[in-house]
Amino acid sequence: MKFISTRNPERKVSFEEALFQGLAPDGGLYIPEEDLQLQTHFRALGKESSFHEIAALVTAYLLKGELDAGAVHRIVKNAFPFEPKLVRVDDQLSIVELYHGPSCAFKDFGASFLASAMEEFLSRSNRKAVILVATSGDTGSAVATAFHNRKNIDVVILYPEGRVSPLQEKQLTTLGGNITALEVKGSFDDCQRMVKAAFVDPELSKAFPLTSANSISLGRLIPQMFYYIWAFAQLKETLKEEFFFCVPSGNFGNLTAGLYAWKWGLPVTGFVAATNANDVVPHYLESGIYSPRPSQLTLSNAMDVGSPSNFERMEALFHKNWNLMRALVFGDMVTDAETLEVMKEVKDQHNMFLCPHTAVGYKAARRFLAREARDNGHVCVLSTAHPAKFIEVVERATGQSPELPQPLVDAASKEKQSYKIGNTLADLSKVLHQVLK
Ligand SMILES: *Cc1c(COP(=O)(O)O)cnc(C)c1O
Repeated sequence: MKFISTRNPERKVSFEEALFQGLAPDGGLYIPEEDLQLQTHFRALGKESSFHEIAALVTAYLLKGELDAGAVHRIVKNAFPFEPKLVRVDDQLSIVELYHGPSCAFKDFGASFLASAMEEFLSRSNRKAVILVATSGDTGSAVATAFHNRKNIDVVILYPEGRVSPLQEKQLTTLGGNITALEVKGSFDDCQRMVKAAFVDPELSKAFPLTSANSISLGRLIPQMFYYIWAFAQLKETLKEEFFFCVPSGNFGNLTAGLYAWKWGLPVTGFVAATNANDVVPHYLESGIYSPRPSQLTLSNAMDVGSPSNFERMEALFHKNWNLMRALVFGDMVTDAETLEVMKEVKDQHNMFLCPHTAVGYKAARRFLAREARDNGHVCVLSTAHPAKFIEVVERATGQSPELPQPLVDAASKEKQSYKIGNTLADLSKVLHQVLK
């Protein structure tokens, strides 16, 4: 299969090229050139279908002509030593937990597949890659754990000193080996600026095979389709007429992956796009007016995005047609007060902790079912992070503390290792020459 830029359908690249380039040279995002027709496959799936089987099925189509079945199997097996888990809350609502990976958030699925696919391509051609990323927290820990111990790949992560949570810092700085953490005296914007400058610096790009792994990478988007398909297969037998996914959203990568699953034949009735106060997309769905704006701080901070990077992909999917998008995607905005309220309610009623992002999705799902009177509908809410990652918010909402999952316990007990550096390209260049031999 070939991939094109959202800004230029003429320039076609392979999956491998899209993987290592990240952003298209024209500034657009890579999208599949054609729609696959996988209905027959999807209909044949059932409760017994494994996550690996589903991941391998879709990956084989994507890599047709590039890699054989053996390589596809290797990529999937190495990417996913963890799986999603489905919790049926009642007849109308279920939750698919996506936080059983090494960093305890759904971004593990994308990062881990990207790492595994890169490792496969690099080993074939005996090349090396240096992944350079700036992070304000969550993305960095998913990337760091996903690339840890991958052959032929070094990872350098820049994060702003004192501005990520203590637990997140531990996740970034305790892996060692091929993962180097740089603690930058400056802001997240400084870190991002330094990374961008490094990519266009002639001396550095000559010295190191620099590659990005940021969230707009196609290699992180595509694997997020797999759990939509898996959740459908798990629920299929019990579904009545209508089936929806509700997706807590920030940059809308997760939702966009679901839209591709639908486009390629997954029988979904619609999607609920749930946001916090950063409601640019729900506002667009309501009014037809897209007005990105500076982000606002909320309790679900991984969704504090004022200009969602994947909106360009969503528009391309619906041929820039507002009515087409509205027919499938329903928007809703959930306030911080409602988020806290629903976290308490779910703990009291179902004895379940939700992270604040998942709570936004849960609230929007319940409201959707009530408002639209979808009596014959079922909504599957995507649970995006383990509640213990946001322990302060959970305690504030419920008065109780969730238990730390094993990967977080392990990270918390290890010793931090980082290089402190200034916020210029010269500082970054010096340390790169020092650590990457
Ligand atoms: C990144 C993230 C989101 C938002 O996902 P997008 O793909 O950016 O819409 C939601 N919840 C958590 C916990 C996240 O880390």
